[in-house]
Amino acid sequence: MNCRLEADVLRAAEEDRWTDALRRHVAECADCEAASAVARWMHDFSRVDEREHILPDPAVLWLKAKLLRGTTGVERAAKPVTLFQMIAYLAVAGGWTALLTWRWQALTLWFANLNPARAIAESSATGGASLSLMFFLCVLVLSSITIVVAMHTILAEE
Ligand SMILES: [Zn+2]
Repeated sequence: MNCRLEADVLRAAEEDRWTDALRRHVAECADCEAASAVARWMHDFSRVDEREHILPDPAVLWLKAKLLRGTTGVERAAKPVTLFQMIAYLAVAGGWTALLTWRWQALTLWFANLNPARAIAESSATGGASLSLMFFLCVLVLSSITIVVAMHTILAEE
């Protein structure tokens, strides 16, 4: 069925190294002509695949460039201005925490009065301790938000 030279033709097509005898044979033999055409196409296709692996997706490149530019921008801006800003925002966060800690009892009471149904439900369930815990979480969240805002400001600077 298959031409005995087909293996040679495929190898020649793959390596792109043709002898005159093989060229002549391919011109005459339909099997080998088809085989070499397919081999050629497969070879080109595999090279295309190779190239795509060497060069990453344009979207990835773009994102990488943007991230690198962003990083250098942050590093540039972070030296004199944002370090000061960072301290300022951390001071704000600390201020919030201090304020809430200082006003702990009053705020707890105020919160209990503001939301009596919840306060009653929670104090009946866990004996009032959960309200303090909730407040502690509020302080934590508030501090986190302040830090996030500070970070956002730093990142927005570039
Ligand atoms: Zn042949």
